[in-house]
Amino acid sequence: MKQIIYADNAATTKLNREAFEAMIPWLTEEYGNASQPYSFARKPKQALANARVSIAKCINAEPDEIYFTSGGTESDNWAIKGLAFSDWSKCATITSAIEHHAVLRACESIEKLGYPVAYLSVTPTGVITPESLEAVITRETRLVSIMYANNEIGTIQPIKKLAEIAHAHGALFHTDAVQALGHVDIDVKNLNVDLLSASAHKFNGPKGVGFLYIKKGIEISPYANGGAQERGFRAGTENIAGIVGMATALEDNCAKISVNTNHIKMLEAKLLEALDDAEVDYIRNGDENHIPGNISLSFRGNDGETLLHRLDLMGIIISTGSACDSVNSQISHVIKEIGLDEDYAYGTIRVSLSPENSLDDIEQIAKALIKITKNQEID
Ligand code: PLP
Repeated sequence: MKQIIYADNAATTKLNREAFEAMIPWLTEEYGNASQPYSFARKPKQALANARVSIAKCINAEPDEIYFTSGGTESDNWAIKGLAFSDWSKCATITSAIEHHAVLRACESIEKLGYPVAYLSVTPTGVITPESLEAVITRETRLVSIMYANNEIGTIQPIKKLAEIAHAHGALFHTDAVQALGHVDIDVKNLNVDLLSASAHKFNGPKGVGFLYIKKGIEISPYANGGAQERGFRAGTENIAGIVGMATALEDNCAKISVNTNHIKMLEAKLLEALDDAEVDYIRNGDENHIPGNISLSFRGNDGETLLHRLDLMGIIISTGSACDSVNSQISHVIKEIGLDEDYAYGTIRVSLSPENSLDDIEQIAKALIKITKNQEID
């Protein structure tokens, strides 16, 4: 395979080797259905229970507060729709204008059914302020859903404070932590969130599996009706190999957060330093408080999609923003919302690093960006 420099880790990550190996027995030898009463189902059932315990430990939750899903999209949809549908007398939702489409489209769908939704604006660095929530929250608000960290610009939100405001008004609080879990320490009790969405493939686990943390005692409608899996709230035969892989990857990532953060932050600084030294005209988007390695850059007078393809030809994989927006070269909803000048906005790319990236990778990315944006010949 052609050697590439992979720098699109916010879109997806490489599967952890240990997670891959932990998955194999559940795909080959121990393929029993965990819902069956016979002895061949005992080990898969135990594997599910063990995964629930280890995932709960990583976020300081209780095992029976973890509900396995097919990933971030499903977890977000469940949180938004499940809460709106659970109490008709108090069914308003508040979210932000920069959420992932999994939240935004779920909100649009409940709006069509008559459930009110309010969308909070953000500051120019992409922060949702406590004051903006205070201004719109009412006693009719059932749910406030604000992402832990933005997928395009990396900004981390003041989740604890926002959750406190929600609770003070009798509302519940959900956070889409898909970009954050496994990359920053998350403690659901300390944050006092009621629901949290996660997706395994963003923390070196397999694709198509995730979970929704639901605090004990919260009333929520089931996501899928059918069998009794996930205590009757999310029917469907469990993806045991995926769940085991997710638990292994999460445990490994959480144990390495501080080492990984130091390495990635060093790489991040080197990239920006190289661009500054070469006097490239760019803006780095997002807040100082951001997910390590999520670097949103807007190059003046450039086109993000052209940058993506030229870098691709040089073996460098980045994105123009959100993975799902990469088919059209428009300004993304997030870049629009932070109010970036159009001269820069069209030239936006997202470089997202992992602990596997090296200093040499960064030098090559910087060299390529300098060549392209300064119209130099490419060797
Ligand atoms: N939420 C955020 C913030 C994301 O970045 C993503 C994926 O890019 C999702 C939700 C959707 O997750 P999944 O790919 O597991 O459906």
